[in-house]
Amino acid sequence: MDKKSRTEVPNLCYQLHGNCYLNITWHCTLRCAFCPKFNGCWEVQKYDLRLYQEPSAAEVLAAIGDIGAYSEFVFCGLGEPTLRLEVLLEVAEVLKAEGAYIRINTDGLANLVHGRDVIPEMVGKVDALSISMNAQDEATYIQHCRPKIERAYQGMLAFSRRAGEMLPEVTVTAIDGLPGVDIGACQKLAESLGVGFRRRELDVVG
Ligand code: SF4
Repeated sequence: MDKKSRTEVPNLCYQLHGNCYLNITWHCTLRCAFCPKFNGCWEVQKYDLRLYQEPSAAEVLAAIGDIGAYSEFVFCGLGEPTLRLEVLLEVAEVLKAEGAYIRINTDGLANLVHGRDVIPEMVGKVDALSISMNAQDEATYIQHCRPKIERAYQGMLAFSRRAGEMLPEVTVTAIDGLPGVDIGACQKLAESLGVGFRRRELDVVG
């Protein structure tokens, strides 16, 4: 990392689709083969999402500024936001108190990573989860997502089902066009979990 990059102001929040997106970590439990950061690119829709420090809740809120300027906040960057659960929930609580709608784009591995059911901690602070299911079976998931932990696929499915029972809006997603990914089968799996489904396009963030 050169000196110039380190002194640049990080994009802790960025605007997409009229919403405010929050970039709170660069760490991930997955190493998705299709992820731009593993192909040397940290830019998403003209925003450089590289971070050199994990921001505090106060820093994230300061970067947002006027909370009332946005109706929806989405925790989503080139990292897994639930790895910073404490900061995420602290920020979400403040935003929620101002009447904002809160979504987390997640890998659905938080319960496995934290070793407990964290979904009750989200109740009342988080309106929606968009969970990257990414595949209709474990082998295809492992091929594309390359998880660092065991039984990630099963953990993600269990998390999705549980979240669907406790949070207002839960959707799982899969990327159309990845080799071996059967979008119809992913949709059926989502239905069996009792959650919504959304087909995503490669390299389109949202
Ligand atoms: S979970 Fe998202 S940010 Fe993390 S490696 Fe996969 S695509 Fe990249």
